[in-house]
Amino acid sequence: MSPSLDVTLKRHPSLYFEDGDIVISVAASAESVQLFRVHHIFLANSSPVFRDMLSLPAGTEKESSAHVNEQYDGVPLVHCQDDPDDFAELLHVLYDPSMLYTMLEPVYYDTATVLVGLMSLSDKYCMDKIKAAIGARVMKDWPTTIDQYDNAAQACMNYHPGRLLSMAWDFVFPEPVAAIEFATKFNTPEILPAAFYHLATLDTSIKWTGMEYKPAGRWSELSSQNVARFIIGRDKLYKATVASVLGVFDEPCEYAVCDTARAVRRQDVIATTFLEANVTQHMDPLRIYNQLRENIGFSDVCVDCQFRIAHRLSEEKGVLWECLKVFFDLPNPQPT
Ligand SMILES: [Zn+2]
Repeated sequence: MSPSLDVTLKRHPSLYFEDGDIVISVAASAESVQLFRVHHIFLANSSPVFRDMLSLPAGTEKESSAHVNEQYDGVPLVHCQDDPDDFAELLHVLYDPSMLYTMLEPVYYDTATVLVGLMSLSDKYCMDKIKAAIGARVMKDWPTTIDQYDNAAQACMNYHPGRLLSMAWDFVFPEPVAAIEFATKFNTPEILPAAFYHLATLDTSIKWTGMEYKPAGRWSELSSQNVARFIIGRDKLYKATVASVLGVFDEPCEYAVCDTARAVRRQDVIATTFLEANVTQHMDPLRIYNQLRENIGFSDVCVDCQFRIAHRLSEEKGVLWECLKVFFDLPNPQPT
C-alpha cells in the first residue's frame, strides 16, 4: 500500500488480530483510515459477498480475486467503502454473536436508529440471518393490528401507573421517522401503518432532541417520498375521523327520544375534540374513539343510544385502522 503522506492509518484497538490473515481498510475520512486485521474465514463463512471479495490468492488464477492485490503488514489488504464504526460493529458481532442478542434486547428505546448501521452492512453483504434478526426486532416495536395497538397502549399505562394517562400513552412507541425510513429501506412495510399513524399524532412544532418530555419526530430526516405520504395520509386520516365520528352521532335514535340530546353532544364533540385538533394541527384519532366511548354515559342520551354509540365507535376505530395503509399509500412487502 502506498498511501498519501497525509493519510493516518489507525489499527483498530480490539479488531486488529496479530494472527489475522487479511487486513481490511475502511476510510473514516479523506485523512484517516481504520484498519482491521481479521481472519477471512469468519467473513467468508457469513457472507457470500465477502467470500467473493476476499478469495485469497491460492495458486490458481481462478481463486485469486482482483480485489486482493495489495499487501499490508505482510498479509493481503482489501478496501471497503463503509462507515468504520458500523464495520467494527459488524465484526464484533461476527466474532461474538452474543453481541447481536445484546443489541436486540428491549432496553433500547430508539431501536431503528441503534440498529440501522448494522442492518445496512448486513444488507450490503447479504448476511441474511443478521438481517432477519434485526428486522424482526424493529417490527416488534410496532403493532400490526388494532388489538395489538390497544394492548401496547394498555401495557404502557400499566407500566407507568403513576404518570398521567395521556403522557403514558404518548411514550408507547419509539421515534417514528427512524422506523419509517428503516422500514422503507429494508422492506419491512408491515410496521408502516402504525409508524405513520404515530407520526400523524405528533406535534410538528416539537423538534427531536432525544430529551423532550413529549414525543417528537425527526422531521428533517423524512425522505421526500415519505413526506408526501405523511402530508396526504394525515389529511385523509383526520377527515375520515371527523366524518366517521360525526356519522355515528348522526345515526337516529331507534326510539326517537334523544335525537336533540345527541345533536347537542355532536356539537360538543366538534367543539372540544376537532376544533382543538384543528388549532394544534395534530390529533390522535384512535384515542379520540376510546375517550368518546368511555365518556358516553350522558344522562340525556337514552341507554339504547349510549350502548349503540359505544359499539359503533369501536367498529369505526377498527375500520380506521384498516384504512391506514390506503390513507398513507403504503407498499406491500417485496418478496425477498
Ligand atoms: Zn336514543
